[in-house]
Amino acid sequence: MKSHHLLAILIAALLMSLIAQAEDRGVYRLPPDARQALIEMKATVRHGSLGGDFIAELTPEQVEKLRSWGFEPDQLFASIAEEMEVFRHLGGTDEFHTYDQMRNDFYAYAAAHPDIAQVVALGYSIENRELFAMKISDNVAVEEDEPEVVFWGNIHGNEYTGGELPYLYALYLCNEYGSNPAVTQRVNNNEIWCIPMINPDGRVHGQRNNMNGVDLNRDFGYQWDGWGGSWYPFSQIETRTVREFCLASNITLSTTFHCSGDVVFYQWGYSPKVAPDYGVIFRVGQRYANAATYAFENSWADYETHGELLDFVYGSQGGLCYTVEVSSSSSMVNQTFARNQAGMNIFCDLAGEGLHGSVMDAGTGQPLYAAVWISGSAIPSYTDPELGDLHRLVLPGAYNLKVWANGYVPQTINGVNVSYGAPGQFQAALQLGTGEYAFMVTSANQEDPNNSHNNATHPAYALGAPDGIPASLGSGGFIVLDMGEGHEIVNGPGNDFTVTEAIFAQDPNPETYRVYAGDAYNQNSLIGTATGTASFDLESAGVNSTRYLKIVDASGSSPNLRFAGMDLDAVTVLNSAAPSATHEPISQIPVAPEGFAVSVAPNPFNATTTIRYQLPVASQIKFEIFDCSGRRVEAGLTRMAAWQEAGIHELRFNGSSLASGIYIYRLEAGAFAASAKMMLLK
Ligand SMILES: [Zn+2]
Repeated sequence: MKSHHLLAILIAALLMSLIAQAEDRGVYRLPPDARQALIEMKATVRHGSLGGDFIAELTPEQVEKLRSWGFEPDQLFASIAEEMEVFRHLGGTDEFHTYDQMRNDFYAYAAAHPDIAQVVALGYSIENRELFAMKISDNVAVEEDEPEVVFWGNIHGNEYTGGELPYLYALYLCNEYGSNPAVTQRVNNNEIWCIPMINPDGRVHGQRNNMNGVDLNRDFGYQWDGWGGSWYPFSQIETRTVREFCLASNITLSTTFHCSGDVVFYQWGYSPKVAPDYGVIFRVGQRYANAATYAFENSWADYETHGELLDFVYGSQGGLCYTVEVSSSSSMVNQTFARNQAGMNIFCDLAGEGLHGSVMDAGTGQPLYAAVWISGSAIPSYTDPELGDLHRLVLPGAYNLKVWANGYVPQTINGVNVSYGAPGQFQAALQLGTGEYAFMVTSANQEDPNNSHNNATHPAYALGAPDGIPASLGSGGFIVLDMGEGHEIVNGPGNDFTVTEAIFAQDPNPETYRVYAGDAYNQNSLIGTATGTASFDLESAGVNSTRYLKIVDASGSSPNLRFAGMDLDAVTVLNSAAPSATHEPISQIPVAPEGFAVSVAPNPFNATTTIRYQLPVASQIKFEIFDCSGRRVEAGLTRMAAWQEAGIHELRFNGSSLASGIYIYRLEAGAFAASAKMMLLK
């Protein structure tokens, strides 16, 4: 008891010191030429240099360092607390709606408009406040085949107007529905989410960061790099809540509101590289900026940031997302709302353009959570897991699609035509089939220690089957890959997964890396270290199953190369938790007694492999191999005795007369059995 008590005091003291540190930061003005210095120290910048000078929150250490580099930071406020006090005296926050007012209004409006409005608590903050959202749509209780449009506010708690806009927009939609035909159309055709406070604690305490002193808009996983005090990708409960909301939705179009400025920012925040979908990103964002009479700028050009929401929604999820900087003035809220309302209306009108489709299982007709790649883009988007529907904005043109879900044969659909006012429609029905691979990028840091922005690859290149196209991790970088719900890698006979490194002319040498297992937020179990393509066994780390793998570059390679670091091509799941692709049911496998073991090596193989098994006692043996459609494979097996002595036995399998793909073996030995997948790669 006592030691627990002491521990609690220690933790409290630690938390207090963290908060004290956060409050130690002062507010400073710096000239545009301080950009590189601020980036090097990962400083928190409120206004980038597109607005003239930088306004930065700096610790005393950072101020000292800047002075030693020849800069003279101009102190505006000695501390955040002092700034808040001054702001309060000016009547700064009085005209904004509080957390309680907004939340109560949302519940009251939803009660008054039950057909179109629902309040959802997406999750809870550190201090247990709701991350409340209003979902607005016709038949709001029913998940419909509609684009999802999301307006986020107050990821920075002290950027008050940023929270007002989603709040006011939700009320406007409720009030005008049924009487204003344009509003009625927008609500009928979309699923609109208004989420005023991603950071409700910060909003209540009037501070930028959450209660751990972490800048939530640096905590997202896509090209995360430890900025803003972030501990690791998705280290905070608020950003985890947002991630989980994104995974349960398929966001077509979204904005995240900040203060201050009159500008719409587009990807990327982390790099000056042009985003793969820049055509549609420009067209759609420019429409918003025009409607709101805002400037339209590249986020990186304003200031470099890592781990931002806009990079995550687009880079990891394939949805469009813009950062909109609005006036911070409380006396201008109505005017600011009018300008952004015009932009939000345009977004609700545009979300129905582009590609619309649905993906299902060809056998059962059930909707599938699938990845959809379109010609011309390196970044897939994902169907809504509930209905299997997909809505992706694209420019008019003809598109070739590749649709894929784990355990299914990828389907290619060519020549889907999109024109203005006429979305391109597609329907995919996937056949059960071969192959389970990494499905989604959870986090990535293609580490770029010299900030050269030379890396020519995208994290999404690591998804799906091996194709020779690498996601180069950078020098010391990492990626966290999600196999998808129900497709966890499990510890089975032999190796459980293969990491494939791409070998290509510009970087022909295999490189060293480490592989970890864990959940979406912590990957601490080291499975192994390898150089080049290698297979791994979860058993070696005592891990039973993992949905996520973290692959960390350990090549020590030079950082400035275009393909620096380990060149990850794919992760192939050899032992999966998914129901086997075979249609012939595999009977329950009793727990094997001590000493019963099966391994297959090599796996994947071309074209022969060896199945080794150990029998603890003399047993009646039955060995069979099935292809992915459940047919028993007769060819390629060596003859074996039906009754075998205790000990180690070997069996050769020759797949030279068979097609590439997944095969499932099943070994029965007396009362127990084992089965697992083998992959023939020719
Ligand atoms: Zn902000």
